[in-house]
Amino acid sequence: EDDIPRPVIMPKDKLLGGLLPSGFDETSCLSRYESLLYIKGLRHKPSSYLISRLRRYEALHKQCGPYTELYNRTVDLIKSGDQYSTSSSVCNYVIWVSFSGLGNRILTLTSAFLYALLTNRVLLVDPRVNLPDLFCEPFPQVSWLLPSDFPILDQFSTFNQKSPLSYGYMVRNNKSRIHPFMYLHLNHDYDGQDKLFFCDTDQTFLKKIPWLFVKSNNYYVPALFLIPSFEQELNNLFPEKGTVFHFLGRYLFHPTNSVWGLITRYYQAYLANADEKIGIQIRVFDLGVGNFKYVLDQILACTAKENLLPRVNPNEPIVNSSGKTKTISILMTSLSPRYFEEIRNMYWENPTVTGEIVSVYQPSHEEHQQTEKLMHDRKAWAEMYLLSLTDKLVTSAWSTFGYVAQGLGGLKPWILYKFENGTVHNPPCFRDMSLEPCYHSPPNYDCKKKTGSYNTGNLVPHVRHCKDMSWGLKLF
Ligand code: GDP
Repeated sequence: EDDIPRPVIMPKDKLLGGLLPSGFDETSCLSRYESLLYIKGLRHKPSSYLISRLRRYEALHKQCGPYTELYNRTVDLIKSGDQYSTSSSVCNYVIWVSFSGLGNRILTLTSAFLYALLTNRVLLVDPRVNLPDLFCEPFPQVSWLLPSDFPILDQFSTFNQKSPLSYGYMVRNNKSRIHPFMYLHLNHDYDGQDKLFFCDTDQTFLKKIPWLFVKSNNYYVPALFLIPSFEQELNNLFPEKGTVFHFLGRYLFHPTNSVWGLITRYYQAYLANADEKIGIQIRVFDLGVGNFKYVLDQILACTAKENLLPRVNPNEPIVNSSGKTKTISILMTSLSPRYFEEIRNMYWENPTVTGEIVSVYQPSHEEHQQTEKLMHDRKAWAEMYLLSLTDKLVTSAWSTFGYVAQGLGGLKPWILYKFENGTVHNPPCFRDMSLEPCYHSPPNYDCKKKTGSYNTGNLVPHVRHCKDMSWGLKLF
């Protein structure tokens, strides 16, 4: 890709304080070592334990990854079916099954990777829906992609709650079946039995199963913090609890050269030279006609109240500022172009009160989600990444797209409350308490007492309910 602007100086700490492994071919994935030029370093420091665990994981991945001898042997176990007897495998795996929009997929991949770290499993990913075109290989030497000749490839895309090899189904039907593979249904529509995944006794059982397929559209990391047997290890990995996604996201997700081209060209053309960069991510889940004005008012009310954007003076034709004028670039992302057009016009038609020059940009307006299209997904990924490069970020409640931007960027965003038909929430937005994504449908089961409706928001000190979704859970 000759058209990617080359940096003049290579950064000193291109391995991000040891978070990233060395030894990759640099040209095949430019973003891996060039990202530091844009992110200006990590805002937090990874623990030395996390770094050593990642190196250990990479060694395991190399030993057990696709087509290694141990992998081939473990694949052979699948044939044994119900005759499978435990402890015959050296390598055990978590297979991440592709599901949902890109923001959701990034969060579930991170969750699956942390689960793999905690259980000494190897993470392999379902390559469907553009994945290899969006992300570089994160682990040195051996691929993370599940090979296309994997024996039950056609089966796992149809796994659901009712599949006899789903863990929840097995529990519902009182069967204790040892099988070489099992499906874990962790989607928002999972039931009490599926959620037993988050209990220690069930984790003990699952240790016997070499292949676990996990499908989810949730950031289930906070619930891993509720499992007592993982507690010590998680404390060691993350002395600062609210940095899990920040570190694992920076570790795992490196845009491929085609996406990196989208990011760097846009950044250099529209953002690099501004004194201040402000990101605004607008995701409206309720697209009723007439809602446009409410959402626009909410954005303006939030940015004014929190002093994020300069105010305009509609009574003066021109405002002179003394000295050098400050420049502000606003990066907006939305499926619709309308909010961007209004805000850009506002800063064209009126001067700012204190004379700043404000430019407003929006890379795309795709109108609706089209996850199966490659260029659509590339743009979505590029936009999440660009948002993460801003100095201040405003995002929309409930949106995993915004969570990815905040987490990668290490930013605590101002989150616009979810818009409810016909009313603007007052206050319009709030400052998030951490960098972490919100887990939208957490379990509410007390594994010890074996009772439901349990407030998991009070159980451990670093897991709380989210403010943008009151029943959700997040780390901080
Ligand atoms: P969520 O639905 O907001 O939690 O985020 P997801 O990323 O999981 O799913 C929404 C999908 O819609 C994205 O992955 C994109 O495909 C598309 N989308 C939503 N908002 C935007 C946007 O601002 N820009 C672009 N390019 N795509 C968007």
